[in-house]
Amino acid sequence: MSHILDKIRLCLATYRRARAAVKRQFRPEAIIAIQNQKLGRLIRYSFESIKYYRELCENAGIDARQIQSARDLCKIPVLTREQFRARFWDFLPRELPACRLSRTSGSTGVPICILSDANSRMFNSAGVIRYRRSLGVGFAGRPILTPLKTAQEPSVKKAHWTFLQGIHKTYYVNPYVDSAENTDYAGGLLNGLKRPAVIGITPAVRTLAYKVRDGVFPAIKACAVLTTGESLAPDVRELLVSTFAAPVADIYACNEAGDVAWQCLEGAGYHINADNVIVEVLRNDEPAGEGEIGEVVITNLNRYAMPIIRYKNGDLAKLTSEFCPCGCRLPMIAEIAGRTGEDIFLPGGKVMPWNQLKSQMNHPQIRQFQLVQTVDGSLNVRYVPDGGADTSQMETLLLERYRKLLGPSVAIEVEAVEKIAPAASGKSKLVVSHYKPR
Ligand SMILES: [Zn+2]
Repeated sequence: MSHILDKIRLCLATYRRARAAVKRQFRPEAIIAIQNQKLGRLIRYSFESIKYYRELCENAGIDARQIQSARDLCKIPVLTREQFRARFWDFLPRELPACRLSRTSGSTGVPICILSDANSRMFNSAGVIRYRRSLGVGFAGRPILTPLKTAQEPSVKKAHWTFLQGIHKTYYVNPYVDSAENTDYAGGLLNGLKRPAVIGITPAVRTLAYKVRDGVFPAIKACAVLTTGESLAPDVRELLVSTFAAPVADIYACNEAGDVAWQCLEGAGYHINADNVIVEVLRNDEPAGEGEIGEVVITNLNRYAMPIIRYKNGDLAKLTSEFCPCGCRLPMIAEIAGRTGEDIFLPGGKVMPWNQLKSQMNHPQIRQFQLVQTVDGSLNVRYVPDGGADTSQMETLLLERYRKLLGPSVAIEVEAVEKIAPAASGKSKLVVSHYKPR
């Protein structure tokens, strides 16, 4: 009984925070005030109670009182994924509150465990209610349709009510299973839903859209489509807008910090949940200039079970000092380039950045692709063609593009495939390298 009461209390506290957060987003001085207040408290707590930070401040001679605003954060050294993994236990307080454990595979493939307490879940959920509201998914009653992440997940997953992030019933569909049974089930489900919000990770939402566009699943109109987990390419956005006849917004989240930033319907950039996280963008550990791409460094202001201060999460982004035309005064990320690939080495040692390799695959008739550099250094280009695509023409075109980019010394093979299965996380890495130069 007390367990249920605790849950109800947590939901009610979250709704109160959400209401305050909605009002706050238009008042820059209120955003700064709550950020500074939370930061000061987090720093005092971490320097006192968390072994890693206690040692850090002793060794570097930093006093908690010196850190009063985001600008002072540069006095604390950046935390890398490797440091975090190596000293995992030193990030936990002696008395651990009730927590949830999540595991992130991470873009570098090294798993990391993250603990989140009720406090951080409450503030994060308040932020979710705020952005959903601004995207037309009201506080209560809107059905949510979530595509499952892989073919290994069940094709029938029971719908259920959720309360923490507003009051909604969530329905699931598996876009990766091709059986007649799954197609029938999905058909019945989609026909019965009235303008749901489609919310899921980008590759799964994209796969669902193709199933609808190809007529395998029935047509469905959404009230909004919210993607996350992988940066949303312009052609995928167009596909989603036309398939679901709805506005599309991308949410930038990471396991280490929760929901970090979100697009509104203006689509001008990402509004940072600055009352929950501080986002810095650094080049060589110094703040990147206006409009410069750099490494994302994140401080979660609410997580006391496992404080993470100035954590380099492996993504790249560009900040802007401009505000969104929608009137919201949360600070903005202009652009996010998640790290969905690995740079490859060419024979001779030259590095070819993954995003340059990726950009060669821009073509309206390519649905999905993966570039794999094999152990002998050759490049295998695998792609899923659109229904009407001429694959021999496509092969010639892709060979030409990669030959020009990589030069004559790299063997290139182009292969049209039916599907590219996502990893267990639901994402698939776009560029993978197994080649180690000598
Ligand atoms: Zn906006």
